[in-house]
Amino acid sequence: GGLKASVGEDGYKRYYYTDKVDESQRISATFVTLARNRDLNSLIGSIRHIEDRFNNKFHYDWVFLNDEEFTDEFKAVTSSLVSGTTKYGKIDKSQWGFPEWIDQDKAAAVRKDMHDRRIIYGDSIPYRHMCRYESGFFYRHPLMMDYEYYWRVEPDVKIYCDIDYDIFRFMKDNKKSYGWTISLPEYIETIPTLWKTTKEFIKANPQYLPENNMLDFVSDDGGESYNLCHFWSNFEIGSLEFWRGEAYSAYFEYLDKAGGFFYERWGDAPVHSIAAALFLPRDELHFFGDVGYYHVPFHNCPVDPQTRLTNKCVCNTQEDFTWKDYSCTNKFHAINNLRRPHNWKSFSG
Ligand code: GDP
Ligand code: MN
Repeated sequence: GGLKASVGEDGYKRYYYTDKVDESQRISATFVTLARNRDLNSLIGSIRHIEDRFNNKFHYDWVFLNDEEFTDEFKAVTSSLVSGTTKYGKIDKSQWGFPEWIDQDKAAAVRKDMHDRRIIYGDSIPYRHMCRYESGFFYRHPLMMDYEYYWRVEPDVKIYCDIDYDIFRFMKDNKKSYGWTISLPEYIETIPTLWKTTKEFIKANPQYLPENNMLDFVSDDGGESYNLCHFWSNFEIGSLEFWRGEAYSAYFEYLDKAGGFFYERWGDAPVHSIAAALFLPRDELHFFGDVGYYHVPFHNCPVDPQTRLTNKCVCNTQEDFTWKDYSCTNKFHAINNLRRPHNWKSFSG
């Protein structure tokens, strides 16, 4: 098969297909999208971006998940766009709804209060089910159990650059468990007790924290408080085994019992991010600075001129969020001694 390995300047090995995809070289990975039937028209652009920039060369599978049945139209359109095998799953009611230990009146009062305080999605029930599902269940859906790695894709996102190497294989070969593109601080109003609850958990379960974890990404005072930094989970390329593992399973269960998905509005992004920072060795987290990504309202637009040319990026660097003061990506690079693009400072402030 036309598979060629090359080691980049950064020391990472990447595999490139020189001609046709060699299926035997593919690893166990899939795209995964949680969507409603009415999301179809917002989703087709996202699929097209992924296919044009990456998957038309690799033909990885795509799993679609929904709390209702997908329509025939949804299946027909998406399967025509995806170059790999598509699979459609319905979410079990037990994983999309209020757990029995949740006090409905208390949860309703919170939604009313958050509505009055104009907190984004604060009054929404389905959004909470979505956040809880993405936090604790998507990786255990029967259709996902066949796979080791996933790439989460949402409606209305864009990929700005070519990805010529097998990005899933990159994860595996380089022992990466969590890949991301955009990081920023979470709204404190949505997670007032998430850190307190996390501290209780790690106090009772210190064995889940490897020595070289990345606590310093999420806390500026040695774990006393949360600095609100999180990876934006609408883009994730990650290891399913990490979420299925003992540490994360116990953590999710602890959070779920605490009730913050309903008594507050805990997002899957801070939950995933805190877990990745605490329960993974720090070198298993990877910033994808070479793919270019957009989800309203933030752009990751590679600013390094060589990366832009090599990968045929089409975004406007003036819109890049990566190196702005409000982004947490600078901190990630600083605490890990990672090289930044030589011109990053021109895009900060
Ligand atoms: P935002 O990015 O935080 O503004 O939230 P989105 O509206 O993009 O929702 C996040 C993801 O969950 C997207 O992939 C949506 O298609 C999906 N989603 C949100 N709410 C629901 C829902 O009620 N049912 C289903 N099936 N998917 C949902
Ligand atoms: Mn979204």
